[in-house]
Amino acid sequence: MGTKTILVTGGAGFIGGHLCRYLLDKGDRVICADNLFTGSKANIQDLLDNENFTFLEADIIDPLFLEDCKLDQIYNLACPASPVHYQANPIRTIKVNTIGVINMLGLAKKHGARILQSSTSEVYGDPLVHPQTEDYKGNVNPIGPRACYDEGKRVAESLFFEYWRNHGVDIRVARIFNTYGPNMARDDGRVVSNFITQALAGRDITVYGDGKQTRSFCYISDLVDGLHRLMNREYAGPVNLGNPNELTILEIAKEIIKLTGSKSKIVFREIPADDPHRRRPDISLARNKLNWDPIVPLKVGLEKTIKYFNEQQIA
Ligand code: UDP
Repeated sequence: MGTKTILVTGGAGFIGGHLCRYLLDKGDRVICADNLFTGSKANIQDLLDNENFTFLEADIIDPLFLEDCKLDQIYNLACPASPVHYQANPIRTIKVNTIGVINMLGLAKKHGARILQSSTSEVYGDPLVHPQTEDYKGNVNPIGPRACYDEGKRVAESLFFEYWRNHGVDIRVARIFNTYGPNMARDDGRVVSNFITQALAGRDITVYGDGKQTRSFCYISDLVDGLHRLMNREYAGPVNLGNPNELTILEIAKEIIKLTGSKSKIVFREIPADDPHRRRPDISLARNKLNWDPIVPLKVGLEKTIKYFNEQQIA
């Protein structure tokens, strides 16, 4: 395998930045495209001087041509991914997942590049099947406040499969479950970043609803490894990528309080509309097709994430 030229859209985001670093370490050339709406140059600061790395401030809603190179692979990660961010401009979120996805599929077709879509566990909505397998078709509210994201990602999957069926584009689709780790945006309103920043500052820990809803949290290095395997194996997907270790939100609050040694107390706030009650990936397919299993235990991953937020807080 020679050096590949790889485009990572959303490459300055939380997952994108880690993926760019991983690919560069493997010896690939990386073009990172990001509009810096939720991504940040801080996530790729250490890569900017690398001769194999190019940063483009670009929005995938606008066509991207890249005529002076030949792309081998595209990871399409561009899209705000936390509820507060994707709901800030819902119509734009829909555009990224439709117009933006069509632009990237067209680019892949022109370059003869393989393209991977970062889909999401949100395609299962508030699931009636537990744990979620890839053949479960989901329980999604098409007109709710999460629809711009979950319906957006569903139509993005449809577009991927139509470009494969109609144009022979070489596609991969990953359904990413909740992921955490260093470089998560502190203002993204997600449970892990909220609870850690609250615990470190001694502020109240805001549990929405009764805290009995569940999520399953995957550490970033495991996820990046899974994405890379999917891209480089001969299976199109969709494939669930997540850690099946399921916890209630109350349990995660208590674990973070324990690990930070915080004196914060837990308070209960109103649950957001359409908040899924349970979520846990069935990862049999990823195990079989990609030989992938997450290996970082929650405690280890949380300690690294807490260390990161602690340094941010001090800086
Ligand atoms: N959540 C919470 N307190 C917070 C932020 C989130 O209790 O300060 C809950 C939220 O209602 C949801 C879960 O934690 O049930 C995960 O929320 P997040 O936004 O991290 O991810 P998503 O809902 O997209 O899985």
